[in-house]
Amino acid sequence: MEYRQLGKTSLQVSVVALGCEGFMNKSDEDVQAMVDYAHQEGINFVDFFSSNPQGRSAFGKAIQNHREDWIIQGHLCTTWKNGQYERTRKMDEVKAGFEDLLKRLGTDYIDIGMIHYIDAKKDFDEVFHGEIMEYAKALKAQGIIKSIGISSHNPLIAMLAAQSGLVDVIMFSINPCYDMLPPSENVDDLWDDKNYEKPLFQIAPERQHLYEYCESHHIALTVMKAFGGGDLLDENLSPFGVKMTPLQCIHYCLTRPGVVSVMAGSHSIEEMKEAIDYCKADFQAKDFAEVLSHVPKHSFIGHCVYCGHCAPCSKQIPIADIHKFTDLCHQGEVPETVREHYAMLSHHASECIECQLCMPRCPFEVNIIEKMKMAQKLFGY
Ligand code: SF4
Ligand code: SF4
Repeated sequence: MEYRQLGKTSLQVSVVALGCEGFMNKSDEDVQAMVDYAHQEGINFVDFFSSNPQGRSAFGKAIQNHREDWIIQGHLCTTWKNGQYERTRKMDEVKAGFEDLLKRLGTDYIDIGMIHYIDAKKDFDEVFHGEIMEYAKALKAQGIIKSIGISSHNPLIAMLAAQSGLVDVIMFSINPCYDMLPPSENVDDLWDDKNYEKPLFQIAPERQHLYEYCESHHIALTVMKAFGGGDLLDENLSPFGVKMTPLQCIHYCLTRPGVVSVMAGSHSIEEMKEAIDYCKADFQAKDFAEVLSHVPKHSFIGHCVYCGHCAPCSKQIPIADIHKFTDLCHQGEVPETVREHYAMLSHHASECIECQLCMPRCPFEVNIIEKMKMAQKLFGY
């Protein structure tokens, strides 16, 4: 298993993590088996958005002897009504829902207290300037939550949260289809086929800016909907009309700036194994470049998607990393952390001999040599 640092915290989280959907409506024994398998494979990170009492209790029971082995992203603002999970902004329900989470998980702290599902500006203003944020801050001051986070599908709202200075973690919906769509306050737009009927080009700038801002400011992005609710894994359901594999979807997310972990909503040990295989797979199995370059209507041409398909460089330059660090510099400014990360690379842009071997390998027609010159100018070597 590979681990990445969770933003500014000292926590190291597994790049493949668990969603909680798979624990719902299962026996305690089945949940225990799934949790034990994940633990044995090195997964140490779980998202718990659901307020389903059975799922919460079953997971709590499964980790009762090793709570400290798990980093829990637990959601505030979810409640259970008439046998269904609901988002709530009513303070009595918010408090009762969070206390229920602690009790059922058998713990007295949650690592990241996630304020659940903020997609609209009005909701953002009310949450961030109201009782809910005050409650989250009070929980943090008491050590009951260690960090504050939010979940969102709207890059403009996620950016406001990132810029607020109050959150360490943002759970965001990321996959190559959603990445092409403009921001919206309506989550249903992500699934609406109509929005993919017209040609789309490259990653929407608001999404790219969000990822870059989070990377530069050490705000951790954790990923939901990496498989588009499963649609991306089926060519008949995928808005792109081509099928991706789970490993390609996970690799796409983990190569976005700022992303530390993908919460895979596995419903069985077999599905969990498919996601965990990411860490054992060779590059070919993870490579998403061929798929994305053959999407019939939409195009990523001209922009580096950090896929690594152009490797190996004849001088061992890590081309995708160089491009990512170059893109993190805006208007000629090099953030200090980016300068440090660039320095740590084994080879640098100045070593490019312009042999052109990499260029025909890029399915997105990126002018790699020009980008190398740009990097050399920015970083000085
Ligand atoms: S230059 Fe092209 S092939 Fe290389 S990482 Fe970027 S998009 Fe991928
Ligand atoms: S052109 Fe530069 S970056 Fe590309 S393979 Fe040659 S040395 Fe490497």
